[in-house]
Formats: sequence, C-alpha cells, structure tokens
Amino acid sequence: MSQQARTAGSKLEGSCACGAVKVSVNGETMNGICLELQGQPKSFTTRSSNNYDVNRWFCSECGSGTHLTMPDPSMMGLMGGLFPPGSIAPPTKELFCKNRESWEKSYGENVRECDEQPNWEAEAAEREKAAQAQT
Ligand SMILES: [Zn+2]
Repeated sequence: MSQQARTAGSKLEGSCACGAVKVSVNGETMNGICLELQGQPKSFTTRSSNNYDVNRWFCSECGSGTHLTMPDPSMMGLMGGLFPPGSIAPPTKELFCKNRESWEKSYGENVRECDEQPNWEAEAAEREKAAQAQT
C-alpha cells in the first residue's frame, strides 16, 4: 500500500461527491490552514460537547459534508472524504473514543486518544509556549 502524505507547503484539493463544491487547502497542519471554497455550501448549527455552536457545512446538491466552523476562527474541521485516497496526512489525534464501537480499532500508538474533545484553548496555549521555547 502506498500512502503519500501531504508535504509542507503543498496544496491539497478535493471536492464533494458531485463536484459542485471544490475545496483547496494550503498549509502544513490544521493550524493555520487556508481554505478556499468554490461553490456555495449550506450549513446548519449544532451544539458541541464543549458547549459552543458548530456550523456544519454541506453541498446543497449532493448533501456531502464539507467542513465544520466554530466561533474560534482558528478552529475548523474538514471532511476527509473530500480528498483523493492517499492524499491526507495520517491522524495525530482521535476524538470521542468513548463512543468507539467494540469492533473499531485504535489508530496506533502515535495517535492520541481522547474520550471527548480536548480542551482546545489549553492545547493552543501549550503549542504557543512550545513554539516560543524553540525560538
Ligand atoms: Zn456536491
């Protein structure tokens, strides 16, 4: 099996099932990505387990989920199914593991397992502190 992870600075492109919404992502990680959309997705809002609103975007033609946006504009979720097989980087974190089915397996020791959502603000502060320590 060949898996090509995205490299730093590369552009990742994908689309919904019907192709009406096209997604282009620039950036190395989920932090600091730039998302460009072609097409007009629609959204509905749900409440997260951390008690904030999550806008869930989808293609109005085929219904494919495209992305999630949150009140914090630095946080965004992208649906992996938008992208061609072998084009996305392996996961580093798995959320809502408490809901995992008995037949579902772990992604492995390199993936942090979280029963729910992590405290995103605390994790952002930790990343910023680590980045400052490197300079
Ligand atoms: Zn579509």
